[in-house]
Amino acid sequence: MKVYPPDAKWRDMAPGGIIPQAGNAEEYDVSGWRSSHPEHDSECCIHCLFCWIYCPDNAIVVNEEKKVVGFDAQHCKACGICAQVCPKSCISMKPGGEMADARQK
Ligand code: SF4
Ligand code: SF4
Repeated sequence: MKVYPPDAKWRDMAPGGIIPQAGNAEEYDVSGWRSSHPEHDSECCIHCLFCWIYCPDNAIVVNEEKKVVGFDAQHCKACGICAQVCPKSCISMKPGGEMADARQK
């Protein structure tokens, strides 16, 4: 995969700014540019895994019992889709990019 250096100019980029390699989100740490973050209420969660299915960055962390335990702080880009699809409103978006990393639990 081509990785552009920080001093790359626009003429170095792919035409139209396209990303020719699909499914590459997991290769990037997005924690530095997030301006909000999701919070999960484990008391209300029924572990339907809707959030896990819909997260475009595979950033919902599920344990061996198939229960949601939180988020992957390195890859969550705070799109808010998980909060939108949760049927029980157990995920809410909060201001600020800092968030706990459930992968460390
Ligand atoms: S969608 Fe909501 S209720 Fe379902 S697993 Fe995710 S947080 Fe829990
Ligand atoms: S905010 Fe977006 S990227 Fe982060 S866990 Fe939810 S759906 Fe995934």
